Amino acid sequence: MTDRNYREDFPLLRNNDTAYIDNAATAQKPQVVIDAEREFYEKSNANPLRGFYPLSLEATEKYESARKVVRDFIHADSEKEIIFTRNTTESLNLVAYSYALNNLKAGDEIAVTIMEHHSNMLPWQMAARVTGATLRYLDCEKDGTLTDETINSGINEHTKLLAVGHVSNVLGCVNPVRKMADRAHSFGAVVVVDGAQSTPHMAIDVHELGADFFAFSGHKLMGPMGIGVLYGRQELLDAMPPFMSGGEMIDSVSRDGAVYAELPHKFEAGTVNAAGAAGLAAAIGYIKEVGFDYIEKRELELTTRAMEGLAKLPHVHVIGSDKPENHTGIVAFTIDNVHPHDVSEIMAADGIDVRAGHHCAQPLLVHLGVYNTTRASFMFYNTDEEVDAFVESVANVRRRMG
Ligand code: PLP
Repeated sequence: MTDRNYREDFPLLRNNDTAYIDNAATAQKPQVVIDAEREFYEKSNANPLRGFYPLSLEATEKYESARKVVRDFIHADSEKEIIFTRNTTESLNLVAYSYALNNLKAGDEIAVTIMEHHSNMLPWQMAARVTGATLRYLDCEKDGTLTDETINSGINEHTKLLAVGHVSNVLGCVNPVRKMADRAHSFGAVVVVDGAQSTPHMAIDVHELGADFFAFSGHKLMGPMGIGVLYGRQELLDAMPPFMSGGEMIDSVSRDGAVYAELPHKFEAGTVNAAGAAGLAAAIGYIKEVGFDYIEKRELELTTRAMEGLAKLPHVHVIGSDKPENHTGIVAFTIDNVHPHDVSEIMAADGIDVRAGHHCAQPLLVHLGVYNTTRASFMFYNTDEEVDAFVESVANVRRRMG
């Protein structure tokens, strides 16, 4: 536990009275991140990786040192394995277009869980359509559990690719990625992990997870929007063709074709988001300073307080596990006879920002039979007072509907 008031580090939280509890959609940005992005443009702005004059070299240095920070953060072996993208969605599409389309065929299976965000589902639907492979869904239990039976039948000798979210953006459950990866690897499949919802909340080691590919977004871990990461095992990335082509990603070009650049630049076509990378490096520095021990402890306290409050309301139903420790700060719920859009509008009038709808996970909600929910998602910088105001607002929704 620490006595430091982290809210002071966030200009928006300092200057805004609303309770921001939509952190799974995007997190707020600490001053150090805003400064790092601004400083790039104020002091180092030039097109990185292109010029040989000092400013361009400095821009390149900032960009490449951000890559080292990311490598350390997820414990990759080499900077060559860190590809900067725009976000998780682009990272996953890169794997689908570049790896899956070139390695899958009819008769092969792609295994995904039913709880995937659309960004980790639609690329595989596309890959299955184009290659003739079969997309196999692993259904979860009501609390998000994937049983051994589900894992063993869903991942089998036909599986060539497993795509799994580390943490569900609706249920908040942490999936047994290592167990699933070990099984997928025993059949020679590659494992793609969507880390969009885990990276802000827990330490990541791609080797411990058994991930061949690991995707995440800067903005969800307090970094800027428009910068994301794809980690890929070097051996796999080396063998993959570029996803997009054009400037920056070549060694040489002739009338007949091109020799592509070495990793990681082969996958970074066009002018890169160097300011975003600098901001992401600052976000990672900040998250390390706060520390995952504190983050996990504090977020569990907030989640427990929220779930205990909601449990006293008979017309409110939390989706997923009844144990706060299985929620990673995410509490999605329904209120009998009130549509989540009305819930979130009424709560907005109370100054509480929550998300309503299908959360880009429609197949999961259909599977659970709830279709729409309201979702609160906490970060360590939320306060007990915000949780109490949230619970009170939820308690009053039905009365306010008249
Ligand atoms: N995967 C999960 C689990 C998510 O929660 C999200 C965003 O909400 C995404 C992927 C997509 O992230 P982005 O929109 O940053 O690409």
